[in-house]
Amino acid sequence: MERLKDLLRTFLLLELLKGLALTGRYMFARKITDQYPEEKTPLSPRFRGLHALRRYPNGEERCIGCKLCEAVCPALAITIQTAERADGTRRTTRYDIDMTKCIFCGFCEESCPVDSIVETGIFEFHGEKRGDLYFTKEMLLAVGERYEEHIARARAQDAAYR
Ligand code: SF4
Ligand code: SF4
Repeated sequence: MERLKDLLRTFLLLELLKGLALTGRYMFARKITDQYPEEKTPLSPRFRGLHALRRYPNGEERCIGCKLCEAVCPALAITIQTAERADGTRRTTRYDIDMTKCIFCGFCEESCPVDSIVETGIFEFHGEKRGDLYFTKEMLLAVGERYEEHIARARAQDAAYR
């Protein structure tokens, strides 16, 4: 019986007609193509884009140089060196991320106890040579300063699920 049904389906070109019906339906439906880059689609607050190092509102760096992010990074993309300051606290003297190695897994962000290293919603960045994608501490802090408002808003939206 099944074989007979298959035979009928083949001769009547049912699969082909089904496909054409689907094409026809979408041909007259409202088009949903976005004209990127002029039109942008909404981004999840969990989007994992370019990294940033954050500061507290008083300007103090959040990072305490615990190196958890460096240890957890599966791509070995993070390099950290630390030193003790005059007030006895520890801060990084070097914090680099090699974006050519990074796989944007988000582990660094998840491991950070002070919400210092975060991944922003920025995905439109590029480098023309390898060195352009080597982000130093100063560059990461600059990203954090520039986009702090967006970062704080995204983290507040996601706070209930963390
Ligand atoms: S996102 Fe993942 S791969 Fe990239 S620096 Fe963080 S831990 Fe490493
Ligand atoms: S960014 Fe966070 S996890 Fe990484 S060294 Fe600084 S405090 Fe530790």
